[in-house]
Order: sequence, then C-alpha cells, then structure tokens
Amino acid sequence: MRKKIVAGNWKMNLDYTSGMTLFSEVLNMVNDEVHGNQEVIVCPPFLYIHSLVQLGKNSTRIGIGAQNCHQAESGAYTGEIAANMLKSIGATAVILGHSERRQYFGETNQTLAPKVDAALKAGLRPIFCIGETLEQREQNIHFDLIKAQLTEGIFHLTAADFSKAIIAYEPVWAIGTGVTATSGQAQEVHAFIRKEIAAKYGTETAENTTILYGGSCTPKNAPELFAQADIDGGLIGGASLKSRDFTDIIKAFNS
Ligand code: PEP
Repeated sequence: MRKKIVAGNWKMNLDYTSGMTLFSEVLNMVNDEVHGNQEVIVCPPFLYIHSLVQLGKNSTRIGIGAQNCHQAESGAYTGEIAANMLKSIGATAVILGHSERRQYFGETNQTLAPKVDAALKAGLRPIFCIGETLEQREQNIHFDLIKAQLTEGIFHLTAADFSKAIIAYEPVWAIGTGVTATSGQAQEVHAFIRKEIAAKYGTETAENTTILYGGSCTPKNAPELFAQADIDGGLIGGASLKSRDFTDIIKAFNS
C-alpha cells in the first residue's frame, strides 16, 4: 500500500526558536495521531535540520527534509549544500524542483535531473515538484508540460530508484495564492501523472508511488483533496507554519 504523506515546506521562514517550538508542537500530535501507512516530513531551512532531527529522533512517523541540494558530492561550490551532507545530519528527504526554485533560481528539468541522482545516491528521497503556470493551463498545455517535467527531470531513473521518489503536483497558480485547485482538477492531473508513471515503469510502480498535492492546501480543503483516489497527501507551504493548521491537515487523512 502506498504511503500517505503530509510534508511541510517552511521555505525561508521562522527564526530558530519559533521553528523549534512549532516542530515540538507538531511532533506531539504526530506521535499520537499518525498511524498505519501515514507519515509526516518537515522541510525547514538547512540551518535547523540538525536540531529538528535530534528533537524527532524517537519518532518513526516524522522525517526531516531539505528544500534543495547541490548535484555534486563535494567541491568548490561556495554556499552550496551537498545531498550527502544532509544525509550525514539525519535528513531523509529533499524537495527538488519547487516552482520558486525554478522561477527565482533558474532551475530546469535538465539541471534538476542530476540533483535527483545526487539525492538518491546519498540515500535521500526526492520530493520532485511539477506543475503548470496559469498561462500554461489557460493554453491547455498543462498535460504536455507535466509530461515533459517527468520525462526530463526524473524518468531517467531505474524503476528501483524511481520507487524511492515522491512526486508533488503543485500548480504554480495555486502556490501561496489562496486559490486551490478544485479536488476534480487536482485528481485529473494526479490520475494523469500515475498513468504516465505506469506507462514508463509499469502499473505496480505507479500504484506504489506517493503523489502529493500542493497549492493553498488548508485544514478546510484537505479532507476533500485527500479523499481523491490519486491524491496521497499534501506538500504544504503557508499552513505548515502554524502548528494547528498543519496538524489539522495531517488529521484530514482520518476524516
Ligand atoms: C508550496 O510552496 O509548496 C506550497 C504548496 O505553498 P502554499 O501551501 O503556501 O500554497
């Protein structure tokens, strides 16, 4: 049975003390209420990863991820962080290809593919983000775009490696805007993604792949989104910064 995951992307928010407080509150709830095949991943700024790993080390239900990594194992890349460094301090996952990284830092499917390889080589699960802009949706090219993001960014993997990855569908027009994709719109794209995975890797791999929805997910809309057949949880931005909202979204699995 595929994993149901809620991942929080803190982006460049919260000072150290607020981050520790937020994480402690989330941890308390996760230990009590996350069961079965459910899992939570918190992705703070790099600086806080080590402390969060220490705080959460007795929980089998919560993992800590990064928001990016470099593709090289080491070297003269001032200011960058390698995947194996993240692994060495206890991170278990890394978000790759978030639309903000694509938009502000020039990341492309071509530059992301080696980051996916580096993450897997280091033993991190990539949370690979894909999704269209409003313009692309209006032009009705979003399915082609998503297919290209998959093909160029992650479908070079072997089936064994691909099975470690998590896919996050995040329509760019829904990220941080308060506009959520309807459950029908999101399900339609998730079903398409699963079909593409099946065509590349076979039905079993497709059925076992966790596909998250991201984009203005809230406690209010999460139950309906998570009830869709091909939506296996969420990648949560703004609402992951408030413990009550984030934990209520996690509880949406059980509602
Ligand atoms: C995100 O940045 O991944 C995201 C989904 O943000 P928000 O939930 O704030 O729309």
